[in-house]
Amino acid sequence: MDVDNVPNKQNMQNNMQNQVIFSSVIKTWRDVFAEELGETPRLCKNRCINCLPEQLPKGCVASLYHKNDDFRHGALYGNYITFANVTHDDIEHIRELGVPHYNIAVHSTETVVRRRILGNPNARDVMNVIKRLTDSDITINAAIDLCRGVNDRAGLEKTILDLKEYFPNVQGVIVRPVAITKHRKGLHCLQRYDVASAKAVLAQVIKLQRRFLEEIGTRFVFVTDELYYMAQMPFPRAAHYEKFPYIIEHVGVAAKVIKEFEAALKEISLPQEAVRKTIISGAVHGRMMEQLIEKLPYDTVDSWVIENKFLGSDASVAEVFAGQDVIDTLAGRDIGELLLVHRHNLFDGDMFVDGLTLEEVAKELGVQVKVFDGGSELLERMLW
Ligand code: SF4
Repeated sequence: MDVDNVPNKQNMQNNMQNQVIFSSVIKTWRDVFAEELGETPRLCKNRCINCLPEQLPKGCVASLYHKNDDFRHGALYGNYITFANVTHDDIEHIRELGVPHYNIAVHSTETVVRRRILGNPNARDVMNVIKRLTDSDITINAAIDLCRGVNDRAGLEKTILDLKEYFPNVQGVIVRPVAITKHRKGLHCLQRYDVASAKAVLAQVIKLQRRFLEEIGTRFVFVTDELYYMAQMPFPRAAHYEKFPYIIEHVGVAAKVIKEFEAALKEISLPQEAVRKTIISGAVHGRMMEQLIEKLPYDTVDSWVIENKFLGSDASVAEVFAGQDVIDTLAGRDIGELLLVHRHNLFDGDMFVDGLTLEEVAKELGVQVKVFDGGSELLERMLW
């Protein structure tokens, strides 16, 4: 037997060491977090006054009920997490593994206000978390879920300015009114934004955007389309959103659709006729759809705003209407052969918020249903 192959104690130790080195080389932070999540998932310990899963009726898409605030999940899937319950060791673990980016639900940089929103008197100081993460060159996107009268006004400005101190590691901030459904029972009474209060928030943000654009070359803070709708103000043009970094959070959806639609319209030669069809949207994007239809020379393309009876008519949930709302609104109407719906109105690819699939809605209404993902796809489908 070759002496090198004798399984003596020294060889065994070397092999073990090699395995550790080997495994540490090939294991990425993704592998480590995926394993940990499987073995020791952590339940959310907050009781946020804006928690969506707490204000949903039965029968929604299953993924919406998940109360997820685990930092491993946040790193892997990009959801905004609070970091309220992480330990000193957790943060060291994140830094050692070299996680590149986090989306953090900040809400307020004032600990008292933040703890009130999170319903968690022990929530960590978020600025300390941000400092430690950015010290390791981890980049951050921050979200401020606006609770009227709680974290807006002077507190909002302070939070944005505090976060801007960490630019460019903190890449930007999104401001969005919290979702308020009609199923909020036994929860903190959240006030809806009316036109005046929504305008006041926008005025504050616009002032800061102008200042930041001069100082650091980016607007840095952006608001969701809902807030413009609530304030009865027009959506900004596409250039306002720079490279649309927060499109997945519904920041700039309207501007992106309009920009792509107008660009595609310049490139295309229009057919004589278009098959009769209907575009559906929530209240926030209803007027935009009408304006796009008016750019075409057909009277066969129509649009309908679907009222969200399932969750309630608040603008913060207007764009996530139920499949049953679609059926109830359109049944018996002349909607043509095709129904068009934006992907951002759907969950898990093909479901409305009540779990009805595109196929089920199509069958019930006796039409085809097609999804569009942006303005050029919308135009293409409109010309069909
Ligand atoms: S962090 Fe807050 S909003 Fe998110 S799941 Fe937990 S309680 Fe709900």
